[in-house]
Amino acid sequence: MPKAQETILEIDLKALKHNFEYLKSKTKQGTKILGVVKAFAYGSDANEIAYYLQNLNIDYFAVAYVHEGISLRNFGIAKPILVLHPQAINFKLLIKHCLEPSLYNSKILNEFIKIASEENQSNYPIHIKFNTGLNRLGFDANDIDYLIDKLKNTSSIKVASIFSHLAASEDLNEKAFTLNQIQSFKNITENIIPKLGYKPMLHLCNTSGILNYPEAHFDMVRTGIGLYGFGNSEKENTHFKPIGTLKTVISQIHTIEKGDSVGYNRAYKTENQIKTATLPIGHADGIGRQYGKGKGFVTINGQKAPIIGNVCMDMIMVNVTNVDCKEGDEAIVFDKNYTAEELAETAGTISYEIITGISQRVKRVYLK
Ligand SMILES: *Cc1c(COP(=O)(O)O)cnc(C)c1O
Repeated sequence: MPKAQETILEIDLKALKHNFEYLKSKTKQGTKILGVVKAFAYGSDANEIAYYLQNLNIDYFAVAYVHEGISLRNFGIAKPILVLHPQAINFKLLIKHCLEPSLYNSKILNEFIKIASEENQSNYPIHIKFNTGLNRLGFDANDIDYLIDKLKNTSSIKVASIFSHLAASEDLNEKAFTLNQIQSFKNITENIIPKLGYKPMLHLCNTSGILNYPEAHFDMVRTGIGLYGFGNSEKENTHFKPIGTLKTVISQIHTIEKGDSVGYNRAYKTENQIKTATLPIGHADGIGRQYGKGKGFVTINGQKAPIIGNVCMDMIMVNVTNVDCKEGDEAIVFDKNYTAEELAETAGTISYEIITGISQRVKRVYLK
């Protein structure tokens, strides 16, 4: 691996393949796999990641919004793409690019039927989302008769799948709650399918659902964070390889005298002489202010260097008093050893937030 000469996010496609294959090995045979590539594939780069996964013969993709799906289509992604949270204003574009909407309440269902029939569509694939306890998006079990009535009265759309989303699949203290969600989903599907007269695909599990609830894989599973190398538990993390390495380089080293201060608002005041390194990465790159004041750290030549003072927009300063380093040396913000999850924990957040927050200013480099 070449040494960083600027801030880069290195994406290890071999690690992606490893994670995909591990998830596949944990999934009931014959189950389809949907790769969740919303939010730039959790901050890596949706187009490249989806292209690679498509070559690994993944079955489906999901994004959050229509424009994310359009970007994939323009890049040559031909697999079906589920749009988890489409807005009616984009429905024409969605149809134009053969994207498949998740429909979760009567308002959005009616809006979609209207546009699909105006566009002369027949049997356009849609996905019906049910709420089984997350209380975020989804029809209620009581909506089934209403739904059937609507679906029987149009030939513009056809249900490609019925799905729901688990609220706490990673938390084994909430196992009873999750089992209840699984049961609610089963009840809903057993009620709706005979009335519908055909059998759409059923899917419920996200990454932790795949790992913790093999009995709930149904016809397809949806994995996001696992593909990117996190298993949401110490045990599972050992089976995954984080695909992203965020690295940067030391711009300048300072000796700061006792009684002096470092950075904006003089947020760090020295009690003794220290040595600092200034790095070209800041909150505009995704390292939020919550990582400042000694919480977050980078590693330089294998040694930890805490972020001191406030995180600036374009820079951080780290304490390298006890680190053997010089200007031009590489600094690792996270990698496979000091993971994004570990860094996230220093600021009381989760891997999902730090990796999706790496801004588009940071150059992505692929290891193939
Ligand atoms: C984001 C998302 C996923 C992926 O969840 P992971 O925990 O990253 O595997 C799956 N399903 C839905 C509906 C989502 O919004």
